[in-house]
Amino acid sequence: MKVLAFGAHPDDVEFRCSGTLSLLADRGWEVAIATVTGGGGGSMEHPAEVIRRIRLAEAKAAADLLGAQYVWAGGIDMDVDFRHDLRVKVVHVLRQVRPDVVITLPPGDYHSDHTETSALVRAGCFFAPIPNYPEQSLEPIARVPRLYYMSAETDWYGRPFPVSFVVDVSDRRDLKERMLVRHASQRNWIRDHHGTDDYVAALHGRAASMGARVGFGAGEGFIQHLGGGYPHDDPIGEALADRVRKTGEVLPFPT
Ligand SMILES: [Zn+2]
Repeated sequence: MKVLAFGAHPDDVEFRCSGTLSLLADRGWEVAIATVTGGGGGSMEHPAEVIRRIRLAEAKAAADLLGAQYVWAGGIDMDVDFRHDLRVKVVHVLRQVRPDVVITLPPGDYHSDHTETSALVRAGCFFAPIPNYPEQSLEPIARVPRLYYMSAETDWYGRPFPVSFVVDVSDRRDLKERMLVRHASQRNWIRDHHGTDDYVAALHGRAASMGARVGFGAGEGFIQHLGGGYPHDDPIGEALADRVRKTGEVLPFPT
């Protein structure tokens, strides 16, 4: 099995689902990480091309800790929307990586780049097996991959975000932290822009509160996308059956 975690920005995947990726890697899955943007907006100090170069190297260094491939789709920070060139770029990444399982950001997430990435990746999974879309591209993938949404802790209004199951990542806290701190450039950015002084504390705090929903010390929450045309079998739930607890929370999303 091969899983692709597809975020908007470098560090989204590290915050939201790196522990689960590590557990899947331990069970023999191949892991890949992609981002729509190269993170060129994430600095108050550097011009875009400088911070993008730094952040692409940070993203690759974090992925290396999982033995994972890292791919930048070619999009630009704060300029992610559901438009033709980005749909083609996302389909190109899916055809390059050829995953069985895709994890992306959820609809209703706090940042517009995140909500648009969610729509781009959801559509891309549907489009990537279609031979005539776009007319010139890589070989289509064989079938629509299973699609999951990683959790946002809160929706864009700040309300708790419902998830259908939580993976126990209590023994992956160190790994999550080591991956996140590869994104050293973001420590200052998050402090200056979001007003959060310690992004490592934020990482552990979010995992603790997600875990507490089902009685785990640290957790990562997910929702499987079960819309028409998407597979309903649940390979993450099966592979990590000893680590998964259902929440019973009420979906769909509060968008
Ligand atoms: Zn992000």
